[in-house]
Amino acid sequence: MAQNGTIENGLARNACPPPLPQPVKIPEIKHTKIFINNEWHTSIKGKKFPTINPATGVKICDVEEADKADVDEAVRAARAAGQRGSEWRLMDASSRGRLLHRLADLLERERAVLATLESMDTGKPFLHAFFVDLDGSIKTLRYYAGWTDKIHGKTMPVDENFVCFTKHEPVGVCGAIIPWNFPLLMFMWKIAPALACGNTVVIKPAEQTPLTALHVGAIIKEAGFPPGVVNIVPGFGPTAGAAIASHMNIDKVAFTGSTEVGQLIKAAAAKSNLKRVTLELGGKNPCIVFADSDLQSAVEETQKGAFFNQGQACTAASRIYVEEPVYDEFVRLSVERAKNIVIGDPLEPRTSHGPQVSYSFELLSVFSSCVQIVYVFLLLGQIDQHQFDKILELVDSGKKEGAMLECGGCAVEDRGLFIHPTIFSDVKDHMRIAKEEIFGPVQCIMKFKTQEEVINRANSSHYGLTAAVFTRDIHRAMSVSAAMEAGTVWVNCYNALHAQAPFGGYKMSGNGREL
Ligand code: NAP
Ligand code: MG
Repeated sequence: MAQNGTIENGLARNACPPPLPQPVKIPEIKHTKIFINNEWHTSIKGKKFPTINPATGVKICDVEEADKADVDEAVRAARAAGQRGSEWRLMDASSRGRLLHRLADLLERERAVLATLESMDTGKPFLHAFFVDLDGSIKTLRYYAGWTDKIHGKTMPVDENFVCFTKHEPVGVCGAIIPWNFPLLMFMWKIAPALACGNTVVIKPAEQTPLTALHVGAIIKEAGFPPGVVNIVPGFGPTAGAAIASHMNIDKVAFTGSTEVGQLIKAAAAKSNLKRVTLELGGKNPCIVFADSDLQSAVEETQKGAFFNQGQACTAASRIYVEEPVYDEFVRLSVERAKNIVIGDPLEPRTSHGPQVSYSFELLSVFSSCVQIVYVFLLLGQIDQHQFDKILELVDSGKKEGAMLECGGCAVEDRGLFIHPTIFSDVKDHMRIAKEEIFGPVQCIMKFKTQEEVINRANSSHYGLTAAVFTRDIHRAMSVSAAMEAGTVWVNCYNALHAQAPFGGYKMSGNGREL
């Protein structure tokens, strides 16, 4: 999720830009099994689930489905790999760093393949996957590779004649549960710091998007990580995910996803072995645009923030407060810009807006023996399309509650799970679209009069992940940023995320920090 202007910025710097990277024509899907101990396993219960291309509705392949028993196997492998005296535990810290660098090198080698798989599995434009997700993943690995031999304890001048020092040790087996919006990047945000510190990992990718994680399993082995250091258990939240959260032999769980599931994870950790919990949850992120800002730039940054990744980002810029004197012009420019967004095949280089993520198959874990039948029903629209329907339902609520629909507001007819970039103006704080996380391409624009008023309105949310302030006045930028109840505040930019800076939320956006 690095700055989503990266593609344009990268090209603009070169008078004669290099040719654009190309997706791999028909990538061979080599890895669809559970990855434990550097080996590929079939599911103990013999179950599989399909993964679908949301741009076409066509199945890409079936993946082996991990359940509780498979998670138990993975945890046993991770525990053994990290025990005192093991190869991993005895490895020099600098050698751990070299392994992380080697993994980054292999990601560079596989960059086009991974970006193609990510685009097919999530629906995000290939060039976004290539320049944003892959770039962020590689940089995350390299950043943590540099940390491995710089994790110091302290010596403390305690009273009397004693020598006292602290020594940092690995936490142990780290469970990770990740979402479908940035599958590869979230995978790296979880494993890179855990491995840098010498932990072992059991990670569950989201059911909708398991393919890049499994491809990475193969290159983790190729990079030379000892067996059991990273284990990948594709499967469903209520089964494999819950088994991780409640496992007695997992020492920490790191979760990214919805606030509701975050609450379940924390409860499960508390009821099992009190494992440590880090949560990176939802957001309803405010942007405050003052009349003295560079308006064109504020329009671009807030809109990229709202529509990047089809609005499927915990950082989505979803409440835009604009100061009264520039409000009308801001709305006009935003609508003009939105109408130029190119919706289409995510593998086409011109496309800047793909479909929403694929159908949810959670129901299938109950009906595993009739997967194909349920699959056919699903394609006939008989089963809840979850995310897609949820977005359109919220858009309808905006219309009914009296917000002004400026553009979009509906699905693209006859095609996959595409939704037109949507702008509402005249949005009021009590409306559902102003309060609930939409996780779709919907920008809500509101008017404000005073600084004090807008600070209160921006902070009146259960969420507190990110915020942004647009102004040319440095004093105002600093004081309004300081007043925001948010883990990250951007000034005159949006979605500028870096491996070197921490990320995480206040309030119900989670606790602990990523990176
Ligand atoms: P989710 O249910 O929170 O899924 C995130 C991850 O948690 C997935 O791997 C999921 O497994 C797993 N999970 C689900 N139930 C679980 C349980 N009981 N125990 C352990 N793990 C469990 O999110 P979603 O349903 O995919 O999306 C719903 C909403 O969450 C979105 O509309 C959005 O508001 C929010 N969301 C936030 C982020 C973020 O970056 N903060 C990312 C994605 C979604 P499955 O593979 O079975 O889903
Ligand atoms: Mg889900």
